[in-house]
Amino acid sequence: MEREALKQRLTFYRDIKVNTLYVRLPGLAPENDTLAKISADIGDCKRCQLHKERHKVVFGDGNEHAKIVFVGEGPGADEDAQGIPFVGRAGQLLTQMIENTASKEGIPVKRSDVYICNVVKCRPPENRTPEPEEMEICGQFLFRQLSVIKPKAICALGATAAKALLGRKEGVTRMRGNWFKWNDIPVMVTYHPSYLLRAYNVDAKRESWEDLKKLLHFVYD
Ligand code: URA
Repeated sequence: MEREALKQRLTFYRDIKVNTLYVRLPGLAPENDTLAKISADIGDCKRCQLHKERHKVVFGDGNEHAKIVFVGEGPGADEDAQGIPFVGRAGQLLTQMIENTASKEGIPVKRSDVYICNVVKCRPPENRTPEPEEMEICGQFLFRQLSVIKPKAICALGATAAKALLGRKEGVTRMRGNWFKWNDIPVMVTYHPSYLLRAYNVDAKRESWEDLKKLLHFVYD
């Protein structure tokens, strides 16, 4: 609608004392959506400021039919260079945690069996936390990815993923190890692997191994 026509329409509503307008948002995902369509829709994205310094859009990695989706915060330098999520130090730890826990528990799961992605698909400068606006704009693509994959459970890695999926601001320490829901899909919150890389977080490491065990048994038993 042209600016002038919109102004006239809004003035009309104001004059007849309509104070609230409800906008009908499009469905979460278009019909027959696929990961390929979502990736094509993202394209050479310039919807938020994160595009200015990114090298590659980091869409996601893994099995389109995964039973678990791991959601991180946003790409770091290694991910930005390679276009693949969780390939740097935190990613190597995540891969080890998934594969070693599964193997110890007798569950035949490798990294390639799960799906891994982030709330924002472009690297925030200096690895800063994504802004609410960036999370909202990019979140629509994350929600479409989850709607297409329909995993049996989602694992939110850290506070940004928990906030994007659950809208909750409590610290991870309080939420971890518990089940929440995103659109009827169970969500387990646990620590972000980057946090676990800090030497003093020994307890957190043990706790996230417990969280992962719980998640794997829930999904594969
Ligand atoms: N941290 C994240 O949150 N995501 C990545 O892909 C890498 C590091």
